[in-house]
Amino acid sequence: MSDSLPFRIPDRTETAGEEPVVLSRADHPISRKNLDQETLKVLYRLNRHGYKAYLVGGSVRDLLLRRKPKDFDVGTDATPDQVKSLFRNCFLVGRRFRLAHIRFGRNQLIEVATFRRKPASDELPQDPDDRFGFMENVFGTPREDAFRRDFTINALFYDIDGFSVIDYTGGLEDLQLRRIRVIGNPQERFTEDPVRMLRALEFCARLDFTLEEQTRRGIYACAPLIAEAAPARVREEVMELFRHAVGGDVLNSAQVNGLLSPLLAGYEGDPESFALLAQIDRRTRKGTAVEEPFVIAALYLSRFLRRCAPAQQAPIPEVVRAAGQTIASHCAYFSIARGISHQARELLVGVYRLARGRRQRGERRLLQNPMTPYALELLALWSEVTGEYRELVKEWGKELRRQADDEPAAAKEKPRTGQGRPRRRRGGRRKSKPPSQ
Ligand code: ATP
Ligand code: MG
Repeated sequence: MSDSLPFRIPDRTETAGEEPVVLSRADHPISRKNLDQETLKVLYRLNRHGYKAYLVGGSVRDLLLRRKPKDFDVGTDATPDQVKSLFRNCFLVGRRFRLAHIRFGRNQLIEVATFRRKPASDELPQDPDDRFGFMENVFGTPREDAFRRDFTINALFYDIDGFSVIDYTGGLEDLQLRRIRVIGNPQERFTEDPVRMLRALEFCARLDFTLEEQTRRGIYACAPLIAEAAPARVREEVMELFRHAVGGDVLNSAQVNGLLSPLLAGYEGDPESFALLAQIDRRTRKGTAVEEPFVIAALYLSRFLRRCAPAQQAPIPEVVRAAGQTIASHCAYFSIARGISHQARELLVGVYRLARGRRQRGERRLLQNPMTPYALELLALWSEVTGEYRELVKEWGKELRRQADDEPAAAKEKPRTGQGRPRRRRGGRRKSKPPSQ
């Protein structure tokens, strides 16, 4: 495994003191052909004007692993104003740390950041709430910029001047050994920003790497701190896991590492929940976009079905209330908008109604509800995990397809029904008590 990557790392003794390990063009596989034209233009122009111009962050890591980078970020010693004066299509963004965004065409954006360093403790603002932003705020050298990053494999640079790869932190060795290692003291770095713990697990899952031992211990020791991370940021990072199709794996290993409960407001997953989330990831990998209501419903489905067994045939208003209560603290903690929490609850109720079986009261309305196909998808994934409801899933699938085939004709006959908002369903709803959410 260790020599499967096409570069040789010079012996540490070949590099003196604080000097980085440098791989020259012949010793690494990154070619300019792997970079897009616009990124090259930005790098070359900076370089022509006498500035350092590096490709930085995840793109260098991915290119060395022969993966396709998601985006290309550029690091430079030019200040944001200097960058702006070089590019007409450049906009400075960010209140505290100013980044240069260079736009090409309609949808390409290259981010150029001036090298930064971690501020000394006496440079930090008094107010701890201001610190996170401030941490990002002081210009530095390339070396300092490498050391303020999270993991060694994320701190590699590709220098356009000479096409070399520059490694200040041992990232090349960790790429070879396929491991995620925090730069510096893990406990310090996790205390500084607890979300790094989740990122460590994310990169393990995405790259199929393992945690380096000190990093693993650091997570174990600092896990409760993640409860202090801003819920809005955690929420975004968690959705990012699902967009990368590693949500199931990462949340499972978060639980193993004691990180999950402080991360998700006291959440505790069971093996079925993690298997269900992994099924969602499989579906994402096949190309279905993953939406937040679906993730919330999946996180809580097992708990909800334990509370409300479909075989018991509870009255629907009670089921609606139970579904709302099951996700209530999650939605409150993350300030989930009403529209999204409503859909998550509808998915749970939909699964319940489908799992109850055919020919129940209100079947026609259920089949016409726009959430029902999604609820059936969720039930189908649950069925793959548990083996339950297999026949029923098939039957409902047939019924929904049959209805979809009939629908265009029906829509022509009665142009204003069965389209758009689920009006009829809402009418029916009002009869029952709204959930106490
Ligand atoms: P990808 O974009 O493929 O998800 P990435 O490594 O580019 O992975 P980003 O979130 O885009 O990740 O961040 C870009 C770079 O910024 C990282 O590679 C890392 O060097 C640095 N970075 C990001 N988040 C942190 C953090 N919380 N602490 C320190 N450095 C960070
Ligand atoms: Mg990135």
